Amino acid sequence: MAASMHTVFIGLGSNLDDPVAQLQQAWATLKAAPWCREAKISSLYRSVAVGPPQPDYINAVAQVTTDLAPLDLLDALQAIELNQGRQRLIHWGPRTLDLDILLIDQEIIQHERLQVPHPYLTERNFVLIPLAELAPELRLPDGRNIGDLAAQIGNEGLTRLA
Ligand code: ATP
Ligand code: CA
Ligand code: CA
Repeated sequence: MAASMHTVFIGLGSNLDDPVAQLQQAWATLKAAPWCREAKISSLYRSVAVGPPQPDYINAVAQVTTDLAPLDLLDALQAIELNQGRQRLIHWGPRTLDLDILLIDQEIIQHERLQVPHPYLTERNFVLIPLAELAPELRLPDGRNIGDLAAQIGNEGLTRLA
C-alpha cells in the first residue's frame, strides 16, 4: 500500500557560521532528499534573537510534500542539523541550523519528541510572516488563518532580505 502524502511546513533558522549559507545548504539538502517532493521556500528574513544575547538569526519557512511519518521526518531533519554542525549547548542558544516542524497537514501531535503545530508558531513573527508568504490561506487545526495571524503580529525585529 502506498504511504499517504503530507504537506509539511518547516521553519529554518541559523545564527552561526555564515547563516545565509547555512540556510542555502539546508534548503539544497532538503530539496534533494529522496523523501521530499514539491519543495518551495519563502524569502530569507533577518530577526533579532530571543533568549540569551546572541547574533541575529536568518530565518525562512519551507513547504514540502513527503510520505515520511512525523517522527521519521523529525529524525531526518535532526540528521540535517547534525550534518551542519548543530551542537546543543544552551537552551535557545546560538546554533548553525535549527529545523522546526511547524505544521503537518491539519494534524495535532502531542508526543514527547514532537508537538505539532509547533507550540510557539503563533507567537513568532519570524515564523508567521514567511509562512504567510507561502500559504496565506492556510489554517491551523483550530481554524485560525495564517494570513490573519501574520497581519496581526507586527514585524518588530524582523527584516526581509532582498
Ligand atoms: P523552540 O521549540 O522554542 O523553537 P528549539 O528549536 O531551540 O526551541 P531544540 O533544542 O531545537 O529546540 O529542540 C528540542 C526538542 O524539541 C527536539 O529534540 C525535539 O524532540 C523537540 N520538538 C518538539 N516538537 C518539535 C517540532 N514541532 N519540531 C522540531 N522539534 C520538536
Ligand atoms: Ca526553534
Ligand atoms: Ca528546534
